[in-house]
Amino acid sequence: MEDLKHLHHWDVLAVSCIDGRFTKRTIDWVSEKTGGVFDFRTEVGSSKAIIDSRADQERFFDVISTSLKLHSIKEVWLIDHIDCGAYGGSKEHADAEAEKQFHLEKLEKAAQIVSEKFPELTVKKVYVDWQKAEIV
Ligand SMILES: [Zn+2]
Repeated sequence: MEDLKHLHHWDVLAVSCIDGRFTKRTIDWVSEKTGGVFDFRTEVGSSKAIIDSRADQERFFDVISTSLKLHSIKEVWLIDHIDCGAYGGSKEHADAEAEKQFHLEKLEKAAQIVSEKFPELTVKKVYVDWQKAEIV
């Protein structure tokens, strides 16, 4: 790995749910996609924190502002996952496809909120199920 001591700028701030079942896989996936250097934030429910809680949203905006100022990030990655307890879990959905569709809509809504506040940033949406993570 290159000399990280002198590295101050990178492209990505990723935000994921706190759910420990997905932490390692998510970090490994983001690490692989970004080359291993990125800002990482967890929020309960990821997209849900941005959509449903003004306080969480403001705090997350502060994190984005800091990542922009200190690291000159270019992208925010919003990462939702299957069976998210913050949204009631898989039992709230007819099947895995319906659950994924639900999260795509939530991710889109959260992405719009972030894009409105930070139009200079590219927002990517990621969904993690039991098999894989993918940009959606
Ligand atoms: Zn969750």
